[in-house]
Amino acid sequence: MPVKIALDLDGVLSDSMGRWVEIWNTKYGYPILSVEGLTEWDFWRKLGITQDEFNRIFDEVWQEWPLLKPLEENIDDSVSKIASLGRVDIVSGRVLKHRQYVVSWLKLHEIRYGSLFLGISPKSRLGHDVFIDDSPIEALQIARTRRIVLLRDQPWNRDLGESPYIRRVRSLEEAFEKLRAIILRDTSL
Ligand SMILES: [Mg+2]
Repeated sequence: MPVKIALDLDGVLSDSMGRWVEIWNTKYGYPILSVEGLTEWDFWRKLGITQDEFNRIFDEVWQEWPLLKPLEENIDDSVSKIASLGRVDIVSGRVLKHRQYVVSWLKLHEIRYGSLFLGISPKSRLGHDVFIDDSPIEALQIARTRRIVLLRDQPWNRDLGESPYIRRVRSLEEAFEKLRAIILRDTSL
């Protein structure tokens, strides 16, 4: 059985918060935000907006998907390398109504994958062996089920320490290297 890898979308493949911040700064202009300044998962609370308002901007991020950049260069090659180690599914909490935008974005950037799962929360309910994600909340939940999370380093997850089940990575290339080492060492995967 190939290793089943759940690859996150926002904040791992796509620079969604970079675009979110861009929309915020254009529309509201105060306070001026930067991605590096988003040091909390629920940073929007301090802006005095509701989660609905946060989500409305997120809707714009995906409605204008051609403007949304990949988080890294050569992301297609990096995903293909990870896929050489197992089966890669894209697993996201993104709402189902964004499916067509997501599919188009993945196609534009030539990212190949097995299945696309949207609207998944918590991700730990899926049967994947390894997760690549930037959410500290998902990471903790997955780690509780004794599965490995490669935590994509982001300002909003830097408070989360590493553990046997949570390993920080700074790029998909590093995720590939770490995953390869884990698979070589752990034959149960
Ligand atoms: Mg994410």
